[in-house]
Amino acid sequence: MKHNRTERCQALQAQLPDYLDGEAKDAICRAVEEHLASCDDCRVVVDTLKKTITLYRNAPRADVPADAHERLVRVLHLDEIR
Ligand SMILES: [Zn+2]
Repeated sequence: MKHNRTERCQALQAQLPDYLDGEAKDAICRAVEEHLASCDDCRVVVDTLKKTITLYRNAPRADVPADAHERLVRVLHLDEIR
């Protein structure tokens, strides 16, 4: 029996801030990576977030558009990551 993909994706994406921040427990990292190996949708989401975070961290704050900044902070709790 297959799990409902949307449900699994939502559960996974709820873990992403911790996962991307390196704060997630090993078990969560493994679960995320296993899911990513079989789910193109979530892989795209993670790739995009990783690139965005890298850009964001490397750019002086002034170079980040205000709306993008706000969106990132809201989605990823970046104020906690920094
Ligand atoms: Zn997924």
